[in-house]
Amino acid sequence: MRTKVIAGNWKMNGLKENVNEIVPIIELSKVVKTQVILFPPITLISRMISKAQGSALHIGAQDCHHDNKGPNTGDISAQMIKDLGAQYVIVGHSERREFHKETNAIIKKKILTAWQNKLTTILCVGENLDIAKKSITNEYIRQQLKGSLPANIDKQKLIIAYEPIWAIGTGKIPTLQQIKNVHNFIRSLLCEIYGKSVGQEIRIIYGGSLNKDNAAEIFEIKNVDGGLVGGASLTAKSFLPIIHALNTNGD
Ligand code: PEP
Repeated sequence: MRTKVIAGNWKMNGLKENVNEIVPIIELSKVVKTQVILFPPITLISRMISKAQGSALHIGAQDCHHDNKGPNTGDISAQMIKDLGAQYVIVGHSERREFHKETNAIIKKKILTAWQNKLTTILCVGENLDIAKKSITNEYIRQQLKGSLPANIDKQKLIIAYEPIWAIGTGKIPTLQQIKNVHNFIRSLLCEIYGKSVGQEIRIIYGGSLNKDNAAEIFEIKNVDGGLVGGASLTAKSFLPIIHALNTNGD
């Protein structure tokens, strides 16, 4: 049985005055069966961890370097994230792949360093519009997963986020059938790579313009084990209904 998970990615948003936004999220996390994780900018991680202490809200970082330390000005390592008290890290977000030229090989190293430091990783994959239009999404995702997943897996420490790039921040989402097809494809690929019993246990979440109006129907889809939310995670008002939608799913 896979525990549902909802994650909010604040990206480069949020100042200390915004931290109180998480108070209602902390309260809700205490009563839902869904796992709730927030990924604030690194500057707010300590504050959020202190605030969330004793609750079920988990805090993570949006990226990590693939080395534990060294001459990498401006970068943050998985070891440092662990040292802050965070338990999660996102790797391979399309904005990192695009603006920081991160390859699958680099992402694989990040996953390995994150696991070494006992962080759970959310690995993002997803196609751009050009690939979607050519109907080669599955092939592209196969390459991303084969190129970035380590051979020896810690299944508890891996979550896959399917995020079509053209749906991120655009208000557009794939059809429910398209989401279903890609999630089923990712599930079968994970079973092919790691064997059925492990592949069935890895959570696969959807990301890209999730909001209170579309969340419920997306969370109904088999093999959608939750969501990664950008814009709508920035306020409790827009994030809480999405958590509720996932929590009531399947009841
Ligand atoms: C994201 O960038 O991970 C994301 C899902 O963003 P949004 O919800 O704003 O589309």
